[in-house]
Parts: sequence; C-alpha cells; structure tokens
Amino acid sequence: MASSPDVIVIGAGVLGLCTAAELAARGHAVTVIDPGAPNASSIAAGMIAPALESLLEDVDAERAALLKRARDLWPAFAESHGLKLLREGADWRGPDADAAVARLRALGFDVRANPTGLTTPEDWRIEVAPALKALARTPGLAIVRGQVVRLTGDARRWRVEAGDGRVWFSSTVVLATGAGEPIDGLPDSVAAAVSAITPIRGQLTFVATAAPPRVVRGPGLYAAPCDGGVVIGATMEPGRRDLEPDPAEATRQIAAGLALLDVTGEVGPTRVGIRGATADGLPLAGPSGEPGLHLALAPRRNGWLMGPLVARITADGIEGRPLMADAAALDPLRFA
Ligand SMILES: Cc1cc2nc3c(=O)[nH]c(=O)nc-3n(C[C@H](O)[C@H](O)[C@H](O)COP(=O)(O)OP(=O)(O)OC[C@H]3O[C@@H](n4cnc5c(N)ncnc54)[C@H](O)[C@@H]3O)c2cc1C
Repeated sequence: MASSPDVIVIGAGVLGLCTAAELAARGHAVTVIDPGAPNASSIAAGMIAPALESLLEDVDAERAALLKRARDLWPAFAESHGLKLLREGADWRGPDADAAVARLRALGFDVRANPTGLTTPEDWRIEVAPALKALARTPGLAIVRGQVVRLTGDARRWRVEAGDGRVWFSSTVVLATGAGEPIDGLPDSVAAAVSAITPIRGQLTFVATAAPPRVVRGPGLYAAPCDGGVVIGATMEPGRRDLEPDPAEATRQIAAGLALLDVTGEVGPTRVGIRGATADGLPLAGPSGEPGLHLALAPRRNGWLMGPLVARITADGIEGRPLMADAAALDPLRFA
C-alpha cells in the first residue's frame, strides 16, 4: 500500500501536530504517522511560561525575549485552531521573592510581589489532551498509527516505511520524533543531529484536590491546575529514557507539592515523559540541509510554549518563504 501526501510528519507530539496543523491550515495535505502511545506532550502540564521558565532557568535577556515572543504567537494560533488558551498567570512561592521580582522585571516581565512570593500575568496554560485532540482534527490533516522504521530518499522524494510494511512517499518530510532514536536510513548529518539530542526524563503525579486558580511554582517543583485537581511535577533527569514511575520520587514530590499549596488530596497516577534537548536548550526547527527533509525537534522543557513558533518556522521553510528572525536561533544547522 502506498499514498503520497504533500507532507509527511513523523511524530504526533506537540511539535509534530502544531506543524501539521499549521501546514494543513495553509492548504497542504498532511499525513502524520505516530504509534499513538502517550508521549511527552500528552503528559505535560501545559504551561506556556516564558516568565517563570526564564527565572528558574536563569536565562539571559535575549533568551527571555525569545520565550516571550514564542508565547505571543499563541493567541492567534489558538484562535485559528480552536484551542482554549488559559491566560491565568502564575504564582511563585519561595525564598528570596524580592530578588525574583527584581530579576523578572529586569528581564522585562510584568510581575507583582505578594505575601507568599510573586504573581505574574505573563505565564499562560493550555489543557494538553483537548489541545492535542483539536490539532489532530484539523481539516486536511490525517493521522495514521504506525512506527516509522526506515526513511530513505533523494532530492525527488522520500520513502517512509512503517514497521508493518506500509509505505508512504512524499517530497517533504518533517521529523518530529521527540527524544526518539534516529530512524534507520536517515542521511548521516541528520542522524548525527538526532543522536546529539539528550533525553531528559520527567515525572509528575496527578492529585485530586481543589485546584488553585493558576499554576503555583516553587523551588524545584510546580503544581499546575488540571481537570479535577493538579499535576505536581516535574523531575529533570538527563540521560534517562526509562518510563517506569519512581514511587519514592513520587512520594517526595507529592508531599512537597501539597505543602506548597497547603492542601490535602487523593493521589492519582504518576506519569513519565521523555523530553529531548539540544546543547543550547532551544529546539531544532526548519530545513535540515537535506532537500525536502525538515526538523521540528528537541524543545527541552518548553515544547508547549514553543509549539506555534516551531510550526511557523518549519512551515515557512517547507514553503520556501523567508524565515522570521527567530528562526536563526532554532536553525537545525547551527551546531554543524
Ligand atoms: C513531566 C513533563 C512536564 C512537562 N511540562 C511542560 C509544560 O508545562 N510546558 C511546556 O511547554 N513543556 C512541558 N514539557 C516539555 C514538553 O512536554 C516537551 O518539550 C514536548 O512535549 C516535546 O514535544 P515533541 O513533539 O518534540 O515530542 P513528543 O511529545 O515526545 O512527541 C514525539 C512523538 O514522535 C513519536 N515518534 C518517535 N519516533 C517515531 C517513529 N520512528 N515513527 C513514528 N513516530 C515516532 C513518538 O511516539 C511521540 O509520539 C513537559 C515534559 C515533561 C516530561
């Protein structure tokens, strides 16, 4: 069996689906291939958090401004794809609140001190499950279940082969495989870029409780509202790809999270996801250097924040349009 969509996207995480939805909205026939299991995007807390990510990752002003511009693409993206953007802001509770307020202001973020720490209106949120579902339903976008095991091609077209023998052809392929290993047959330069992505394991736990009105973050953890309670997370464990929850870590995390919120609750499932990260912490987005092969990979812990930016850069690259200024920071060839 063979079919020939305009664009094949491999991977249905937030980067693959945002890119596929952007391309479909621009009139391309897009097929997304993914095994359909939970991924980093589907278990994430859905924070779109330029301010507190900038604070907690101690980034410079240039990076903070980039994260803010990435966030600013969300309202139009959400509206055109029917996604509900929750502009709730976020709280930070912890020591040295005055220093945190000063740092955020110096980075250009709006922030208010309060008795337990600070509040910023700059950080937003999205419910990840409905958002992924809505993106997958974009007209012009088809999702097929499958694991791509081989990707080969030349300047004319790519041959995409699934583990069960199904084959697709397209002149344009987007690799959005998260922290996955390189697919067999990839050109050496692209295989090297994928191999250089560091997996970072992250674990969070759902707790049924009265949800706070907005995300609450503290030293080393957060509690993010979600349907019926909060998710408390998340660990950052570089080099690990194992998906089995760690019960001892969950116990520690839940206790700290409930103390941060000063509530009790009924503990639900613990989930694990693997983020992919480049050496500079920014994604790889755009042309790979191989004709017709584009990358939408490795947004570290900001895949939701970065989704519309990566989608726009990748779609512009596919259409041969001039790339926006921020594309340079995400250029897949910047490490070559
Ligand atoms: C616990 C946790 C909490 C997080 N919270 C947030 C948050 O609040 N805000 C935020 O912005 N980010 C958050 N992140 C980070 C964010 O989830 C990731 O940056 C983002 O999900 C990565 O998206 P992705 O599309 O690159 O990868 P993924 O979501 O991993 O998707 C990649 C997909 O590609 C598929 N795939 C791989 N190989 C193949 C193949 N050969 N054939 C077919 N399909 C393939 C995989 O099965 C997977 O479905 C969190 C991450 C974790 C782990």
